[in-house]
Amino acid sequence: MNALAKKERLAAETVSDPRWATIVARDPEADGKFYYTVKTTGVYCRPSCAARLARPENIGFYTTREEAEKAGFRPCKRCHPDRPSLVEQYAARVTQACRMIEELESATSLDALAKQVGMSAYHFHRIFKQITGLTPRQYAAALREKRIRDELGRGSAVTDAIFDAGYNSNSRFYEKSNKILGMTPSSYRAGGIKAEIRFAIGECSLGSILVAQSDRGICAILLGDDPDKLVRDLQDSFPRANLIGGDANFEQLVARVVGFIEAPGIGLELPLDVRGTAFQQRVWQALREIPVGQTASYTEIARRIGSPAAVRAVAQACATNKLAVAIPCHRVVRNDGTLAGYRWGVERKRTLLEKEAVMSARELQA
Ligand SMILES: [Zn+2]
Repeated sequence: MNALAKKERLAAETVSDPRWATIVARDPEADGKFYYTVKTTGVYCRPSCAARLARPENIGFYTTREEAEKAGFRPCKRCHPDRPSLVEQYAARVTQACRMIEELESATSLDALAKQVGMSAYHFHRIFKQITGLTPRQYAAALREKRIRDELGRGSAVTDAIFDAGYNSNSRFYEKSNKILGMTPSSYRAGGIKAEIRFAIGECSLGSILVAQSDRGICAILLGDDPDKLVRDLQDSFPRANLIGGDANFEQLVARVVGFIEAPGIGLELPLDVRGTAFQQRVWQALREIPVGQTASYTEIARRIGSPAAVRAVAQACATNKLAVAIPCHRVVRNDGTLAGYRWGVERKRTLLEKEAVMSARELQA
């Protein structure tokens, strides 16, 4: 058998193994169930390893890390398969944080909690939500709500109950208890000056994806390798907004956006909250008019929006796009057709364009 055929056979074997999909998805739930080895680097990894995905023909599967080591592979320096898994470490830290929230008499900040368990605030927020299904704030509020109900049930004065339940002023209680009391949240009364933005992070074939939604629509779709960095990007983009980890309904929305990223041709039938200068809006609108499977140059876009000299400003508007794929800045290329930069990495741009080319070719055949 020649080398190429052998390579193809090995790749096909890996790809047909259900474990391959969990590696591609970097599924943390698969951690502990098996390890995979990479022939070219000589290391073995957990399924969720964030390292660049190896070619399928170079992958091997082992049930235990002992087996992988016996076969001559070293633990990966990125995912440390020889240490307690991240999931185990996170679960321990979240449990620790829950105990702290329960024990504290008054509200504590996200920063303080995160610091106590040795994580960044954003990372901690995300992990806490992932494991408990609630944000730390929601968890603390649920505890307080229970305490308030308990106190009120015992017939104590409302104000006493409020103080006993850990609120340090009445106004704070009424503000925080809007949900409990069913009143209109004060942020709505304030006219959205400090908008609430819900967000959640998922995984797609392009890596991590953050989807954020304001009360007007999807306001950010960010792509990257590092979920923490995506949340920081979101905070930088909306510095005054109150960021809230998504609930179960929101996870469904993320799933829809991921579906759209995997197959942009189906369109994203969701309202977008596009914020930018008038010029940026014109550029972004022009980008949305480039059909799936086609590209345009920066020069062409500048001409289409009636500002032929503004090529650099067009490139700048592409670089500040916050809605990956929904505003398809990946369809803009250099005049000679080569790929210029992409806010989320030129490799992702290449992958997206290749996928779209295949899709539109299929549509033509159909
Ligand atoms: Zn690894």
